[in-house]
Amino acid sequence: TQIFINRKNSEGTNLHIESMLQPFMNAVTGFVGKQWQGGPIINGKTLHEGELVQVYSPQDRSQQIGAIHFADAKIAEQAITTAYQAFPEWNRTPVETRAEALEKFADLMEQHTHELIALCTLEAGKLLQDGIDEVREAVDFCRYYAIEARKLHAYHGPLAGPTGELNELFVQGRGIFACISPWNFPLAIFTGQIVAALVTGNTVIAKPAEQTSLVAYRAVQLMLEAGIPAGAIQLLPGRGSEVGGKLSSDERVTGVCFTGSTDTAKAINRTLASRDGAIATLIAETGGQNAMIVDSTALPEQVVKDAVQSAFMSAGQRCSALRVMYVQDDVAERILELLKGAMAELSVGNPIHYKTDVGPVIDTRAQSGLNEHIANISKTGKLLATATMPEDTAAGSFVCPTAIEIGGINELHKEHFGPILHIVRYQADALDQVIDDINGTGFGLTLGIHTRNESKAAYIAERVNVGNVYINRNQIGAVVGVQPFGGQGLSGTGPKAGGPHYLTRFVTEKTRTNNI
Ligand code: NAP
Repeated sequence: TQIFINRKNSEGTNLHIESMLQPFMNAVTGFVGKQWQGGPIINGKTLHEGELVQVYSPQDRSQQIGAIHFADAKIAEQAITTAYQAFPEWNRTPVETRAEALEKFADLMEQHTHELIALCTLEAGKLLQDGIDEVREAVDFCRYYAIEARKLHAYHGPLAGPTGELNELFVQGRGIFACISPWNFPLAIFTGQIVAALVTGNTVIAKPAEQTSLVAYRAVQLMLEAGIPAGAIQLLPGRGSEVGGKLSSDERVTGVCFTGSTDTAKAINRTLASRDGAIATLIAETGGQNAMIVDSTALPEQVVKDAVQSAFMSAGQRCSALRVMYVQDDVAERILELLKGAMAELSVGNPIHYKTDVGPVIDTRAQSGLNEHIANISKTGKLLATATMPEDTAAGSFVCPTAIEIGGINELHKEHFGPILHIVRYQADALDQVIDDINGTGFGLTLGIHTRNESKAAYIAERVNVGNVYINRNQIGAVVGVQPFGGQGLSGTGPKAGGPHYLTRFVTEKTRTNNI
């Protein structure tokens, strides 16, 4: 308990303070123009073979930032063999050694923070502030799971039993974990999954999203530098359908830790269920259809500030992002008027400019899907407000932040992963219907509530089936160890990342009974 209370998350950088901003900008922009190179990492060695994929920045598709070799099924086989052979020794390594390696890795990420932020900005189109938050979250995951693993592995019992008999309970790693991650938190989620699996004694094969393979490559280089053994971590940049499919179908892979879309999680689940051999573990954190409920007692200015942040920061590419805001009819006009004003102020553009509010979406495929949705939903809904798009956004995959009024959340048939806010008006006596409609989507990730009526907040929070409820604030940016994060239903299996129970899914338990 003592270690837990004394734990502190990493320090931030305040870009509003001139004396912090300038050195920070100089350090980060110093990496612009660098060409990063990478490939699969097998047993500590980078493979310079296989398909070479050129990497361009989402904010300007002509700006090349590097190239990376993608793995194929043959290289995936080498990764599995290496991880399989390394497992027994890593599993027997004392938890203290494993935890210290995570802490060393966290220190190294802090030492390389400017490069990692530059990579998040250039490869994933993240704002500088988002890049800072990425590195901090990745560092916090390492230090938090190091502490949690020491606690988890320290527990042996003894358990109650007959006189003369010693009963103990131990945890051990399960085997090989395939850690399959999305592009929207290319460092934080990528790292969080891997270090949770490693510190509990598993060996890991990491498959990052195609779009953010260079960030992943750099992170694994730092893991190796931190002393994580070459056999314990393999990196497989590559295509999900090929490399990801190979990992989930191989019996030697004992668990999959996945974050991404619900459809991909279901596909992996089917593969795991249909293969021979032991029953595999699946930890899946997936998509959302996140709502906010605003009643007539809410503070309009705060509602708008929190809605704009929740819907448009990170270009709406957060799983927690607000998609549908339910506003009580009596206050809707006032809130929508403020919302229009706030959206007109949003600065859309190059993420490396520190004053930018909304950067690009990840790629042209995402861009055209989102624009298509705006065009379709505008036919039945009412376009309420948009931001202004500067001319220089034409070179990148930008989507104009847009607010549209629709009839209900059930008009949306899937998650639209970008800067689009849907607004629904409701009458005060229809609150239960609103709650039913939100639950009816089957997703259950985040919910925002804006009301000054505490009993109403409690009433809603209890009835909406979601993992994370936020009252009178924005609904993004869960902090490690503070707001353990994860959903239910179509949004994920749990347990929550950054929470005290997360590591339990990565271990197997063994009871030892000794008749002394
Ligand atoms: P995605 O398309 O499902 O991809 C996620 C990962 O799965 C990628 O590495 C992808 O590889 C891989 N993959 C694809 N097909 C596969 C297969 N058949 N077998 C194994 N792996 C496969 O998701 P995304 O577009 O990267 O990420 C956005 C989604 O993630 C959104 O739905 C968002 O809500 C969700 N998300 C959830 C959370 C959470 O905590 N709940 C957090 C962040 C994001 P490729 O890149 O090669 O396709």
